[in-house]
Amino acid sequence: MDEFLLRAHHGLCLCFFQGKGYSGEFVKNMTEKKMALERNPPVRLTDQTDEICRACPNNRSGQCLSDEKAARYDREVLARCGLTPGEVLPYRELEARVLETILIPGHREEICGDCQWTALCRWKGETP
Ligand code: SF4
Repeated sequence: MDEFLLRAHHGLCLCFFQGKGYSGEFVKNMTEKKMALERNPPVRLTDQTDEICRACPNNRSGQCLSDEKAARYDREVLARCGLTPGEVLPYRELEARVLETILIPGHREEICGDCQWTALCRWKGETP
């Protein structure tokens, strides 16, 4: 199975994605990518633009317009999950680490609480 290039913080976004996003093209691409990840391909972690950013209107020639935030979220997810950019692991393993180290203990907002989509991403028991 081909490797899937994935920004580390998209491991969080994917847990909550419910068909909303920056544009119709973005939503279509993210829906397709989420389905592809359900087949548990190897993911190569990055702190730069990835397969999901590919259809995002904020992606300007491979650079995110919100890269200060996006890269900060990536660094936090990587550090908390004990991972590094360039590392390859099965998607399900990334998902499990994100759940165990960030979502279930209630740490998500410490990482991406200033994201414009944060209200959509409430983990069980998290209150606004
Ligand atoms: S906002 Fe930035 S990090 Fe998020 S999908 Fe778009 S280009 Fe990628």
